[in-house]
Amino acid sequence: MRLPIRAATCLALIAAVCAPTTPAWSVAAAPEAGAGTTKATEKKPAEQATTKKKKKARPVDCAKVKCIALTFDDGPGKRVGTLLDTLKKHNAKATFFLEGQYVKARPELAKRIAKEGHQLGNHSYRHPDFTKIDEERIRSEIVETQRLVHKLTGKYPTTLRPPYGLYNDKVQQIATELGLPIILWNTTSHDWASRNQDAIYREVLKGARRDSVVLMHDWVDATVDVMPRLLTALKKRGFHVVTVDSLLRGRKLKPGEVWPADATISPEDTPLVQPND
Ligand SMILES: [Zn+2]
Repeated sequence: MRLPIRAATCLALIAAVCAPTTPAWSVAAAPEAGAGTTKATEKKPAEQATTKKKKKARPVDCAKVKCIALTFDDGPGKRVGTLLDTLKKHNAKATFFLEGQYVKARPELAKRIAKEGHQLGNHSYRHPDFTKIDEERIRSEIVETQRLVHKLTGKYPTTLRPPYGLYNDKVQQIATELGLPIILWNTTSHDWASRNQDAIYREVLKGARRDSVVLMHDWVDATVDVMPRLLTALKKRGFHVVTVDSLLRGRKLKPGEVWPADATISPEDTPLVQPND
């Protein structure tokens, strides 16, 4: 069915709602460079050297080194602060597929995720199965979350992970309209099912390959608790833990494109309920 007027309206809305705000992070970085000139002159040489050293940190080049992307769904979970502390300590970046209702409930945690340089993805507002709801609702689930995340963080999520990883032609079409590639996973942790640190540790290391995209959930206590040990083990195996964007090495996914190509979605991968309240 062709609906040119409606499609045009949608595209206009989409452009307003979903266009990536490229200046968001550059604006955030600007004050540091120019701010406090008086104070800057008071800095001791040692302090200046440290600052310079920090700014030199180069982005990881996944073409040259072995990378892996840890992705956390359904958050922000209550304990995401602890997870963020761990990621920072291990110099790791992750991708968070945020759920609108929890962004609304925990705005400060959503802001912190964005501020600390992790990638933001859209995981719907209330986590319905997109293959079982109508187009208008799919659209509003995505757009509502885009708007909310942008309002809080100044950034629009740049990718979509449909709840349960489930999608069909209709979902793909809407993702295309909204300018969002669909990101799935090719390595699981089954964290939501085992809720057990050792099991999560084993499962992730068993599946970890170069460029793996690992599915995890930041509302699972055992996931948050095992992370220091898991990050240490990944490092020992030569992995750099990076965002999904870093794994892509500058390649820009097309709107509606499903990635990674070897995604393996099974009903056992994701929880049927969302105990994130
Ligand atoms: Zn989910």
